[in-house]
Order: sequence, then C-alpha cells, then structure tokens
Amino acid sequence: MSGDDLMARRRHRLGRSLSLSYREPLAIVRGSGAYLYDADGRAYLDLVNNVAHVGHAHPRVVEAAARQKALLETNTRYLHPTILDYADRLVATLPPHLEVIHLVNSGSEANELALRMARAASGRRAVLAIEGGYHGNTSGLVEVSPYKFDGPGGAGRPETTFVAPLPDPYRGSHRDRTPQAAADYVDDLGRVIDAAAAEGRPVGTFIAEAAPGTAGQVVPPLGYLAAAFERAHAAGALVIADEVQLGLGRVGTHWWGFEVEGATPDIVTMGKPLGNGHPLGAVATTRAIAAAFANGMEYFNTFGGNAVSAAVGLAVLDVIEAEGLRPRAIESGTRFQAGFRELAGRHPAIGDVRGLGLFIGVVLVADRDSRGPATELAAAVVESAKDRGILLSTDGQHHDVLKIKPPLVIESDAIDRTIEVLDQVLGALK
Ligand code: PMP
Repeated sequence: MSGDDLMARRRHRLGRSLSLSYREPLAIVRGSGAYLYDADGRAYLDLVNNVAHVGHAHPRVVEAAARQKALLETNTRYLHPTILDYADRLVATLPPHLEVIHLVNSGSEANELALRMARAASGRRAVLAIEGGYHGNTSGLVEVSPYKFDGPGGAGRPETTFVAPLPDPYRGSHRDRTPQAAADYVDDLGRVIDAAAAEGRPVGTFIAEAAPGTAGQVVPPLGYLAAAFERAHAAGALVIADEVQLGLGRVGTHWWGFEVEGATPDIVTMGKPLGNGHPLGAVATTRAIAAAFANGMEYFNTFGGNAVSAAVGLAVLDVIEAEGLRPRAIESGTRFQAGFRELAGRHPAIGDVRGLGLFIGVVLVADRDSRGPATELAAAVVESAKDRGILLSTDGQHHDVLKIKPPLVIESDAIDRTIEVLDQVLGALK
C-alpha cells in the first residue's frame, strides 16, 4: 500500500486534530536502536523519540513483554510480585521521601492522578504552571498547560490556573544563567503566587518540568528550580515534578531532572520512556500525600500496574543499567553540544545551544542581536534533514528550537553525521 493510499484512508477515517510529521509524511514499518525504517528499507535516524528510550524494539524489552503476556496480564486486584519489584526499583532511583508508587498508562494519567493527589492533600484548587508548559491531554491537564490554553484552539487561562514566567536565560526577561537571574525569576514566580492569594485563590499545586520541553528545551538558570520549589512550599503549595519527558536517566548525571539541582518535589510523574513504547506511567509521592488521597474513594485503573507493564518497566531499568546508558547520555550529549557549538561558529542562524544530557535544544534566530525566531528556517531545516535521513522536530512558542532527544543508545557516528548534515543544510538554506 502506497503512502498516498494511507494518507487518503487516514484523512477519511481518523480525526484531523491528529497531526502527521513532515510535508510528505513517512510510512514507518520497523524500528531498531536509534533508527526507524520505511517500507523500502530506508533508514532514518530518530532524534526526536524520547519514548524508545533504550532503542526501538529492544530485544530484552520485547522478550519480557512477550513472556509475561503469555502468562498473565491482569489488574492490581490480585497479589503479584512483579508490580512490587518494579515499584521497589523505581523508588530506589528516587529521593527517600518519595516512597509510594501508583502505576498508570501514560504521562497524562500520571499528571491527572498527581493533580488529584495534590488537590486532596493541599485542600486547594488553584495551580501554578510555567509559561509554555504542557502536562497532558485530559480536560483537567489542558487547563494547567499554557502551551494548550494559550495556543491555537485554546480557551485562555482558567481562573484557577496561574502562570509563572518561563525562566529562559536566552530570551526571557533575565538573560543569563547566573544565580542572580535564577533569583529574579523566582521573585517573578513569587509575585504570581502572591497575586493568586490576594485574589482569594491560593495556589495549592505547582507543576513544573526541571527543563521545560514544549517551551523550547529551556534549561533554567542555575538554582532556579530548587528555589522555585521552596517558594511554592513556603506558600503552602505542593510541588509536582513532571518528569514525563526528561526523566529516567536522559539527563545522564541523575535519574531525574529535578535532582540536577537538588530540588525537592512532593510528587514525581513519569511516562514516555518508562515502557520504551509500551503504555506505562507512574506517580511517586510521600506516604502523607498518598494517605491524604486515600480518603475512601477507590482509585481503580483497569490497565495501570498490570503484570505485563511492570515486567516491561523492569526490563527497561535492567537495560539502562546493563548497557550503562546514563553515562552514555552524558557522553553523547556532550558530543552533540560540542558539535552544535562548533556549527554556531559558522552559522549565525544558531542563536543558542542548551541541554542536559540527551535533552538538547538548538535555537534558530533571524539575527543574533534581536534573538527573534527563525520559524520558517527551522521548518526548512527539519524537512531537509529528513530528506537526508535524519528525523528532527521543533519546539518552543515559535517552533524555532530544534529538539534533540534521541534514544539513549544513539552511537557517536550517528551524532557526527547529524552535525555534518546540519552543517550542509544550514549552509544550503542560508
Ligand atoms: N508531560 C509532559 C512534559 C509531556 O511532554 C507529555 C507528552 N508530550 C505529557 C505530560 C503527556 O504524556 P502522554 O502523551 O503520555 O499522555
């Protein structure tokens, strides 16, 4: 079946709000390691997929799923060791106060549950989020996702949601990575918290990514996260660290993004990479918050915590450890960033390179003085790179930030090839 046939059928049968990547969409039939393959066997390096964390179709993960699927796949209403083993292993990656686990099926389910927990424990409805943030696809999460409610088709900010400025050291109101810039952004956040309280809607939950993804792979100035969490705590709010994109070793130095700064969340939400593509998410929290949530109303989740998902989650953790993927994320991230910085020496369109491990953003600008977005150039770069076998995508309010978050197994020759291709592409599109 040709790509055109698939397009026609898809247009007819699927909802139009489901988007396809690329001007001429790809029909991908197979994945392996950091590569995707089309029906003609053409390989594409996947720099976007932060779900296939340990590589597409990793044999150890596939085998764990198949083995458990052939044996039993059922819910949390029976005793089973695998869910407990997995919960123990997750807790071992987290700070000691986060010791109670709920398993779910997606990042959205994790954030939805976390929000319910934070509201139950704080007794407050209002939520503070960061400008440009995205936390999930449910109606409740769209309401705390400025990326959505302020974006196309959005209904604007709900009255119980408050938005702190994006702590962007490149384009924000405090333009450097110093502790002073961090303190200034935290002051801005504090003013939003105070204004919410003055309106009679005190913030009960602060939800944040340690490095905001959809906002443009932004790495806040040093010290921001820990101080922002403290400021929220001082106002009586609970903090959800959304690690759906960043978590599970992608930053390399730590398991979780918030740990890079030693910040202390009350709830951590996890998704995308946990199951390497199998639907698996998790919420970790304190005993006190979990107890406040257990108010008599049962939390039942038909698929959450089934034995297959837990077996898959365990296999993913095993692979990360057996293949040394955290140290590898540091090495590969350093290699990517060095390559991009070298390119920035030749291509003035590169305004900023930032990242943590294998979570990297390359900002394309119209000119370096204004730092204005080069949105069309970014779209053209993505298309040209695809024609040369490299899959990229953009993020950020102006879709001008190339996002790099490949499977952690990416090899150094693939990184070098990416730099080479971007050199050619940026040269040709000048
Ligand atoms: N939080 C963040 C930071 C995300 O990036 C996403 C997905 N892009 C979600 C939550 C929602 O996860 P899911 O799509 O698995 O529901």
